[in-house]
Amino acid sequence: MILLSPGMGVTVSFTPQMEKRLTQRAVRMIRQSLSRFPELRNLEVRVGHTKTKLGVAFIPTRLRLPLYIRLRVRGLTYNTIGHELTHLLQGLTKLPPPDGTPVWEPLPGGETQCDIWTLARSELFCDDAPTYLRMPRAVRENWRHYAGRVRSLCVEAIRQRPSHRTYIRWLESRIAELPERVPVLRSNVPEQLSLFS
Ligand SMILES: [Zn+2]
Repeated sequence: MILLSPGMGVTVSFTPQMEKRLTQRAVRMIRQSLSRFPELRNLEVRVGHTKTKLGVAFIPTRLRLPLYIRLRVRGLTYNTIGHELTHLLQGLTKLPPPDGTPVWEPLPGGETQCDIWTLARSELFCDDAPTYLRMPRAVRENWRHYAGRVRSLCVEAIRQRPSHRTYIRWLESRIAELPERVPVLRSNVPEQLSLFS
């Protein structure tokens, strides 16, 4: 069993099945992703492997360690890792935090909510379009062009949530307007987000 403690004091282990498939790239991505989740400090996350899905999370209903996610190593993205770790928080933040853990900001359940909170958390998780958040094809297909703007809208939607119950509808309608407001010009196509240094 490989153990990692990437900075924030979260302990990571991998299932034997995952160890066989693990690449240095995947380990680095998981480590970097975990550093964006200070809520998981002092906790343990176990990472298994899935072939059939991008990722799977077992949303905790009580605090039993290790927490458990599964990832597919092939084509792994930061967005998927962030999404599965956010699912863990969806469960954890409904529980009282253990000693030594920072106070948990409550996080609503649901897949679309999971996508919104993942993108908002860090630019790191903007490397690929999320699965559940609705967006026009033009945005999905030119994700790198729109990622920063979608992320800003997610941050704004979370800010609005306490007073606007329809914040997801608001967000998706703002995203739907993006291709008109910020068209992809030919010269912009090779544009790369330099977020992932
Ligand atoms: Zn999910």
